[in-house]
Amino acid sequence: MKNTGRLPSWLKRRIPASAAYNHTHHVIGGLGIETICTNANCPNQGQCWESGTATVLILGNICTRNCRFCAVGHGKPEPPDATEAARVAKMAKDMELKYLVITSVNRDDLEDGGAGQFRDVIKTCRGEIEDMRFELLVPDFKHCQDAALEILETAMPFVFGHNIETVPALYSTARPGADYRTSLELLRKAKAADNRAITKSSIMLGLGEKEEAVIQSLKDLREVGCDRLALGQYLRPTKQSLEVVEYVEPEKFDWWGQKAYELGFDWVMASPFTRSSYHAEQDSTR
Ligand code: SF4
Repeated sequence: MKNTGRLPSWLKRRIPASAAYNHTHHVIGGLGIETICTNANCPNQGQCWESGTATVLILGNICTRNCRFCAVGHGKPEPPDATEAARVAKMAKDMELKYLVITSVNRDDLEDGGAGQFRDVIKTCRGEIEDMRFELLVPDFKHCQDAALEILETAMPFVFGHNIETVPALYSTARPGADYRTSLELLRKAKAADNRAITKSSIMLGLGEKEEAVIQSLKDLREVGCDRLALGQYLRPTKQSLEVVEYVEPEKFDWWGQKAYELGFDWVMASPFTRSSYHAEQDSTR
C-alpha cells in the first residue's frame, strides 16, 4: 500500500501505563542508561518495556554518521563513559534479565570503533549474572573490523548482529556514510572469526526497495553465512527522516518470512513491527 499520509490500521499501537512498564522506565531512567527504544522512537516500546525488555544503547546517543532513516542525533560524541558497564550490569540485575541486546551509535572517532566498551559491558554483566546471554547489534567498524572482532572474541558467546538495513541501491539516500559490501564483509568475518557466533541482520521494508533487490540481499546475507534475519516496516521516526514510500501489508511480511526460510535462514522474524531486537530472546521462530 502506497503511503497516502495516513497510518494503516495494522500499525496503530497503544502505549501501556502498567506497573511493569513503569518499573522498566524507573530502573533505566534511574541509572542514566540510554536505550535505542527511546532514541529511535521504537513503536514497540510499550510492549517491550511492559514485558521487562529493553535494548541498551551504549557509547552515548550522539552518532558520528547521519543515516536518514534514523532518529538518533549526530555530531561529536563524548568519550566512552567508564561507569557505563557497571550501570548496565546493575540494570540487568534490577530487571532480572537473562537476555540483553546491546547496541551503540557509530563511533568512527574511536580507534576500536567502540568494541572495547561492548566487551566491558558484557564481562561486567556476566560478573553479576553468570548465565546471562547477549546479543550485540554493532556498527560496521569500517576502519577497524579485524581489530574490533579480535576484541569482541574475548567476550563470546553472543549473537552477533549487524544490520544491512536496506538494499544497496538505497544506500546513498538512506545510509550515506556506509557501504553495503563493508557491512556484508563484517558479517562474513564475524562468522569466520568464531564459529560459535550466530550472525544476524535486519532489513527495513517500505523505503522504495524493489522486491528482486530484497531477494538478492537475502541471498547476499546467506552467502556470508548469516543465520538470522529480521524484516520490519520502516516508519519515519522524525520529520527530518526519509518518507515512507510504502506500507507493506502483514500478509506480505508472512510471505517474506517464508521466503527467508526457503533461502536458508534458521531464525526469521518478519512483521510490520519487527525490529532487530524485537523478541530477540526467542531461541526459535519456527
Ligand atoms: S523492539 Fe527493540 S528497540 Fe524496540 S522497544 Fe523493543 S527492545 Fe526496544
